[in-house]
Amino acid sequence: MNKIEHIGIAVKSLNNASDTYERLLGISAYKEELVESESVKTSFFKIGENKIELLEATDPNSPIAKFINNRGEGIHHIAFDVDDIVLEMERLRKEGFTLLNEQPKKGADNKLVCFVHPKATHGVLIELCQEVRNE
Ligand code: ZN
Repeated sequence: MNKIEHIGIAVKSLNNASDTYERLLGISAYKEELVESESVKTSFFKIGENKIELLEATDPNSPIAKFINNRGEGIHHIAFDVDDIVLEMERLRKEGFTLLNEQPKKGADNKLVCFVHPKATHGVLIELCQEVRNE
């Protein structure tokens, strides 16, 4: 894994949270994106090498809605940048981690992503992400 690519924060209102983070960081979001497969709206802030991803559920059954119901707003996941997500998934499987998807899937911000179950990572949902090339 190369570096922390972004930190995902579950929020109730993307509008409110984007305003808060604009004032906090002193910059504007560089992108807002709807990810239909995950039933979320996201906005991204670039801060140095890293990014902050705000996530609002667009559906009461989305994982983000369930997270907020159970735990309230807050840090939802930490995403690590990888060069080859398929290789990295294979490595983590061999290490005994449970992956939440069998195949990489298309995530926000032009990434292929895979999630690692938080039960094996001391309560933190981990996302692997690989920049999509040739697009
Ligand atoms: Zn993410």
